[in-house]
Formats: sequence, C-alpha cells, structure tokens
Amino acid sequence: MRPQTALSSEAPLIQALARGVCPICTLMRAFQNSIVESPRCYPATRLCNFHAWSLAGSSPAIEAVPIFRAMFQASKARPGAELTEVPSCDWCVALREHENERLAEFSREMKRERFASWVGQFGTVCLYHADRLSEIVPKPEAKVIQQIVVNNQEDLERQLTELNARLHRGEKGGGSILGHITEFLVSQRGITR
Ligand SMILES: [Zn+2]
Ligand SMILES: [Zn+2]
Repeated sequence: MRPQTALSSEAPLIQALARGVCPICTLMRAFQNSIVESPRCYPATRLCNFHAWSLAGSSPAIEAVPIFRAMFQASKARPGAELTEVPSCDWCVALREHENERLAEFSREMKRERFASWVGQFGTVCLYHADRLSEIVPKPEAKVIQQIVVNNQEDLERQLTELNARLHRGEKGGGSILGHITEFLVSQRGITR
C-alpha cells in the first residue's frame, strides 16, 4: 500500500510535505479516499465516470445504494437533457473546494520563514499545483516554488536518462521512476480535473 493512502485528509500540511511527493496531491488523494470509504458523508446526485466507478467498486455497498437511488431520481428529473450536456460531478466539486483550501493553507504557511526554507530545500510539488501556487503566493515565494519545479524536473530527467541506459543494457523495471515522472507531469493518479 502506498504510504499516502493512510494519511488523514485533515493531516497537517507539513506531514504531507515530508513524504517527498506533492503535498497538495497527497492531501487530495487522502480526501478522495475518505469520500469513497464513507460516501454517506458526501451525498451526491451526479458523479463523473471515475467517481461513479469508485462508488460501485470501492465503497461499502450499503452506503452506495442510497447514492445510486439519488442518481436515478436526478436522472428522471431531466428527461429532456441534451446528450452533449456534461453534468458536473458533486464529488469533483467537493475535491476542488478541498484543493482550494489546501492551496490557500500552503500559501499562508509560505509566509513562515522556516516552512519556506524547508520547502525550498526539500520540497516536491507537481507541475499543475506549482502553477496554481504561483498564482496565489506573493512574488518571492513564487520564486521558491519555481525553483522547486526546476530542481524536481532536473532530478527526474537525470533519473530518466539513467533508466534509459539501464534498459538499453537489458535490465528490467523502471515503473516506479516512470510513476514519479507521471505524478510530476499530471498530478497523482486519480486526481480528476
Ligand atoms: Zn500536486
Ligand atoms: Zn468526479
């Protein structure tokens, strides 16, 4: 099991940060897991493909049934809806709100010198959340974020080059490096946009 799945969605940012992966992604994943594990706390009448399948496959069935009932009800209420209409997903909306709160928290923490210097030295952040953070933190802190991205990217490019050399020597493996690169480029697995 990946360590971040055990992290509470309300875990302090610093705890998420200490794990060597994007802390915003990590807290979003933890929040998403808590939704899927206890869907009765997150009522929904509209779910996207990813979240409907999570509800069907990973939630306790006894909590999934009322949500599927509510989705049937909601679908009856819109018989004339255009096929092209894409209803938004209630859980995606909840995740966006959680993400915005975590981004704001990160931005507030960046004003504390010790936090900012730790982030500058050891921090990891995915490209998407780096862009989001750069928009909301003040200029000097935005520079720190951009430097983290440059450091992360150089490190991952070096690992990719080394992996390529090993693969050409006939060695097997490399999935975890490709996973880290994917997390950096498009956020952690299952983070919907
Ligand atoms: Zn991220
Ligand atoms: Zn969704």
